[in-house]
Amino acid sequence: MMSINLKDLTFDQIKEFLSALDEPPYRASQLARWLFQRRCQSWEEMTDLPRDLRVKLQDMVQLKSLTLMQKQVSLRGDTVKYLYRLVDGQAIESVLMRYHYGCTACISTQVGCRMGCRFCASTAGGFIRNLSPGEMYDQVLAMQFDFGEKINHVVLMGSGEPLDNLGNVLIFLDHIHAPYGLHIGYRHITISTCGIVPGILELSRRRLPVTLAVSLHAPNDKLRSRLMPVNRCYPLGELIPACREYVKRTGRRITFEYALLSGVNDSPRFAEELARLVKDLLCHINLIPVNPVSGKKFSRPPATRVKYFKNILERAGLAVTVRRELGSDIDAACGQLRRRVLGLL
Ligand code: SAH
Repeated sequence: MMSINLKDLTFDQIKEFLSALDEPPYRASQLARWLFQRRCQSWEEMTDLPRDLRVKLQDMVQLKSLTLMQKQVSLRGDTVKYLYRLVDGQAIESVLMRYHYGCTACISTQVGCRMGCRFCASTAGGFIRNLSPGEMYDQVLAMQFDFGEKINHVVLMGSGEPLDNLGNVLIFLDHIHAPYGLHIGYRHITISTCGIVPGILELSRRRLPVTLAVSLHAPNDKLRSRLMPVNRCYPLGELIPACREYVKRTGRRITFEYALLSGVNDSPRFAEELARLVKDLLCHINLIPVNPVSGKKFSRPPATRVKYFKNILERAGLAVTVRRELGSDIDAACGQLRRRVLGLL
């Protein structure tokens, strides 16, 4: 019989699962603490659960959804990249970053990706499958236990498109936010999307006060469709109003990610066009000098050009940051570790 990862279920489903085994309702909270907080790896440790229940669960429930395959630590020790093997043999990567305000876990939401962004390594081998809520959760827990410090921010910015796997992402968010889980505030969670409009509208309807990061990378449809095929399906004329709706419903500021690709989208003309596109939106722009991916022809603009681009946006009254670089010595750009290790190059 295939064993299940209880973290793939909602909390109500975990209660139903236990009540079908004739267990009282409080067992769900007891068990949840072992699974969601203590990362218990053996049934013997769960001493407050009756022995016969543990024996029954042993055959039905899986305690480990990931195994560490590789780990890389940056020279400064503030970024650790993990490659995990899943039960079915697939591999995913996750990154832990330590900032002065705490630890951030960057996790994958899919194995591979079907979005096809031209500059991204995650999509190079195509889409393989969605990650389950438990596989997302276990990335955070495994990193917290390995690093030995509490994780207080989670970003869904690893491989995969979170809004292409929204049902599972929503269950994961419930668990990570819950008191029986890691109790991380929604404001400390960022969902990054390439711009799946129905997903953004669904998040707006739910009024989840998470931070939404939208990967823009181009200020007009012609260039954006060339860099990001998703734009052919959800062009800027639909994406920007969806972002506006999100801001209206949640009151939260949106982050626009803009990867600077030398000679492609980094000219002053594009900065001005970008400023016009987002000027009346509550937003923040994060400029990311592209991480060169082998086999792709994109490179970083010189620092002076990045500064010039930033100045134009600032003069237009926009809040802009340039992403601080962590871990570029350890393949920390999306999908690169997995790609190298799996020999996809
Ligand atoms: N699918 C989601 C989240 C994953 S990628 C999304 O598209 O937002 C996280 C961010 O890294 C996105 O903004 C993505 O466009 C960006 N990215 C991908 N490849 C990159 C590269 N080589 N250099 C810099 N940023 C990159």
